[in-house]
Amino acid sequence: MPLDYRPHLDWIRAQVPAQRDELLRLSNINSGSYHAAGVNRVAERVEQLFAPLGAAAERLELPAHRVTGERGEVLERPIGRALRLRQRPDAPLRIFLAGHLDTVFGEKHAFQAARALDDDTLNGPGVADLKGGLLVMLLALSALERSPWKDRIGWEVVFNPDEEIGSEGSAPLFRQGAARNAFGLVFEPSFPDGNLASARKGSGNFDVIVRGRAAHAGRDPHLGRNAIRAAADVVAALDALNGRRHDLTVNVGYVHGGGPTNIVPDLCIVKFNVRTAIADDERWLLGELDRILAAAQQREGYRLEVRGSFTRGPKVMTPAIDKLAGLIGDCGRQLGLALEFRPTGGCCDGNNLAAAGLPNIDNLGVVGGEIHSDREFMRVSSLGERAQLSALLLLRLASGELTWN
Ligand SMILES: [Zn+2]
Repeated sequence: MPLDYRPHLDWIRAQVPAQRDELLRLSNINSGSYHAAGVNRVAERVEQLFAPLGAAAERLELPAHRVTGERGEVLERPIGRALRLRQRPDAPLRIFLAGHLDTVFGEKHAFQAARALDDDTLNGPGVADLKGGLLVMLLALSALERSPWKDRIGWEVVFNPDEEIGSEGSAPLFRQGAARNAFGLVFEPSFPDGNLASARKGSGNFDVIVRGRAAHAGRDPHLGRNAIRAAADVVAALDALNGRRHDLTVNVGYVHGGGPTNIVPDLCIVKFNVRTAIADDERWLLGELDRILAAAQQREGYRLEVRGSFTRGPKVMTPAIDKLAGLIGDCGRQLGLALEFRPTGGCCDGNNLAAAGLPNIDNLGVVGGEIHSDREFMRVSSLGERAQLSALLLLRLASGELTWN
């Protein structure tokens, strides 16, 4: 290293014990995406933690999330607030950072408490996805702000409350951030082996509401229109789309309909997820979906309705993302980390940033695994290691040793 970044990196390492304890506290606050009060409590704590950095803070109300209920009705489910911080918006190089406040574990889920499994391993809701990443970001930005080079870099952070339900409410914040920054750093957990993500599949969620006609199953079966039967054809046709396009997959993940078996069911709800590899997959899928619904509608007495959309476009590697990966890989080497980048089917806010034109690397958070399960874990040592990685990138850019443009 031509310049001496060591004191800044050592400072990070000294913060790890306190941040480990902070992570246990954050994990113990339930912030399931639909538990708005809990998400807001995490947002308030995060605002306190970042306050010493002196950035301008905005608390932003977001629209309720719309979901299809068991009777086919549209339910509005309130979500928590987003928090946005901006520092030196007129600096020559501006960087966007993001991490989500919510987890997949709702208020009534059995998995609520964090604990240490051993000296280097914490288990708890969100310890890796993504609360550990919030503290990685805090340490990296703190190191930049303590350095003599900070004025060259401005930064913007979005903490969103709805990543685990597709980030529809927070989407405008990502578009705004993409428009006014040079690149993005997102703090999802790394892969369990410590490596980082390159390309990511896109994702869409859709609901098909199939309505038929109720009738007595014994006396008047001919008057009924069995919604489950029609839905079964839709499910089979959707599943048959698998294998038709390279790396495009369809997963029917929810079916709900019917009741007492002496009634011809008049309602069946099908929910499915689609993963895409290239942008054109979206057009293709929507065309196939139209065809499947039109075939089902042709039968007399049935009405079908579809809700939903693609929420995340596929993240395809570009020269700018390659360049950012190269810079991060080089910082890793200086820290003794041999980081590899590989594609994944999982998606995150890095997809949305890329779709909005902002090159980004999106799993710069802690090393952990078994996320979205009660075995979720993170490595305590990675708090310091990953904060040093992002800090070194920021410090080298701020000092002028690395250039972006
Ligand atoms: Zn997640």
